[in-house]
Amino acid sequence: MTGLIREESIAEVREKARIDEVVAEHVTLRNAGGGSMKGLCPFHDEKSPSFHVTPSRGFFHCFGCQAGGDVIKFVMDIDALSFAEAVERLADKYGVQLRREEGDVRDDRPKGPQRSRLIEAHKVAQQFYAEQLGTSDALVARQFLAERGFDQASAETFGIGFAPRDGDALFKHLRQKAFSQEELVTGGLVAVGRSAYDRFRGRLLWPIRDASGDTIGFGARRIFDDDRIDAKYLNTSETPIYKKSQVLYGIDLARKDMARSSQAVVVEGYTDVMACHLAGVTTAVATCGTAFGDEHARVLRRFVNDHEEFRGEVIFAFDGDAAGQKAALRTFSGDQNFVSQTYVAVEPDGLDPCDLRIRQGDAAVRELVARRVPLYRFVLSNVVGKYDLDRADSRVDALREGARLVSSIRDRSKVDAFARELAGMIGVDVDQARSEVRRAAARGPAKPDQRGSRRGEPQQAEAPPAPRNPVPDLRDPRFALERETLKLVIQHPMAIGRTTSDIGVEDFTHPVYRAVWELVAAAGGPVAGSGDATWAGRLRDAATDPAVSSAISALGVEPIRTAKEPDAAYVSVHVFRLLELTTMRRIADLKSRLQRTNPVEHAVEYNRMFGELAALEQHRRTLQERTVGSS
Ligand code: ZN
Repeated sequence: MTGLIREESIAEVREKARIDEVVAEHVTLRNAGGGSMKGLCPFHDEKSPSFHVTPSRGFFHCFGCQAGGDVIKFVMDIDALSFAEAVERLADKYGVQLRREEGDVRDDRPKGPQRSRLIEAHKVAQQFYAEQLGTSDALVARQFLAERGFDQASAETFGIGFAPRDGDALFKHLRQKAFSQEELVTGGLVAVGRSAYDRFRGRLLWPIRDASGDTIGFGARRIFDDDRIDAKYLNTSETPIYKKSQVLYGIDLARKDMARSSQAVVVEGYTDVMACHLAGVTTAVATCGTAFGDEHARVLRRFVNDHEEFRGEVIFAFDGDAAGQKAALRTFSGDQNFVSQTYVAVEPDGLDPCDLRIRQGDAAVRELVARRVPLYRFVLSNVVGKYDLDRADSRVDALREGARLVSSIRDRSKVDAFARELAGMIGVDVDQARSEVRRAAARGPAKPDQRGSRRGEPQQAEAPPAPRNPVPDLRDPRFALERETLKLVIQHPMAIGRTTSDIGVEDFTHPVYRAVWELVAAAGGPVAGSGDATWAGRLRDAATDPAVSSAISALGVEPIRTAKEPDAAYVSVHVFRLLELTTMRRIADLKSRLQRTNPVEHAVEYNRMFGELAALEQHRRTLQERTVGSS
């Protein structure tokens, strides 16, 4: 049938093919009033619908990219078909018998097999494979399904099949049905080596269908140990009808509910899609052997369309493991408009939906999806989770990195909410988080090589990045009290005597002062130096780190900050104040942890910390009184 299609047949196709129905296979349409409908344009990337369809006139038009025409033009454009192919396809769908000019052999088809032939070949192949699933050779395949909680009925729903192990069973079958070798090779069903052989052999097969339900490819899982191909999954490679950057497994089953609920769930594999649908999560899809990309996002957005703006939800059920987190972070760096509608559902034990359904049942799968969290929050808590939040310096670092992330959110209305959330995660004041976010925004998007440098600092671009935790100056005013106390310990061990019995290594925050105190403690404490003229020398000799021995020399000669001989009162003021500062640090750490603890979910822990906080506050007041009393 290569003759030119007669005009009256084309007119009949135009008349019978409903444009709204044909378009709806690719775009979710809403009523736009005046007999028109609209949706997100499938021909250009857009956020609000400018793609209109007027069924009474049989036309579509996009006010964004100016694409437009009748139903035949739509099919030509959406599936990259020639005019004749588009007419054939619609005729097929609407039961129009095409009549052709006799003897006219003009052919406007492009070279290569027709799309309709490739679709037909896949239809026959799918039926063939599905029948093979019942044979004795397919026992392992059936066991695989049964072990994952899939019965015969679900195998039929999803059209699952089995590719026989012998090399050319499908090829022979399709040749008998009059498909040419060229059609089968182009469609990706058959490959040619010394002779033609089946692309899939000895594997369990999932037919991959397009939105209208036509099979366009297969996903094939390894089930035999002696399979010569190691890859766990093989997928149809790129063909004229199979574009892996756009294909979503399960879209044919999910699209209606996606449009209805404005929600899509993206899972990782074929069995996860099955498990979700069987468990009642009927909007689940998966990419086929490729990472979720921008084109997949575009396809989903066309189906999950809501109101004027895109307000639908796309939920990724990622593994909680490193790979899943990486996937989330990758998504985060993509289209921001999409990201703001993106959620993550992570199973705490790292189970995928298929395993979850086997172990805990259908309800657990539905709950997993219901417990989704915004992608922002997921990424933020991953970033914050890298830090030890019980340490003040780590909290500062966590706040800085988290603020950089929050400041990168382009939806300004969400920034404050996330600054609040960041404050809660780290356990700092909201105002502190807000100002850190403002600082991060002022610095602009951070490039990795700019870490550690600040605007306004005399640091050149070529300068090596500052060390993450440089040792602070010993004379930094923050350590003045530690320095004065150690001077007393080294120069006046007699005066300091037993007042120091409450001092511990945690009272010194500078690593060098901490090391000095450790040497003092190892030597028996200040009491051991009482009346010993060699005390400072002994400490110095015991030091192995040059920075520490140098500090001991300095502490031994630097004048005490009082004109008279240091007395018990002078010593007490320093020691009690030192202890008070330590208590204040503990209080800050505990308050931070309290802010990070949910008082309802972790009531026992929360109450214990609250009690501890009250005790520390009391201890601090006592120390304050003693400091005042001594001076
Ligand atoms: Zn457009």
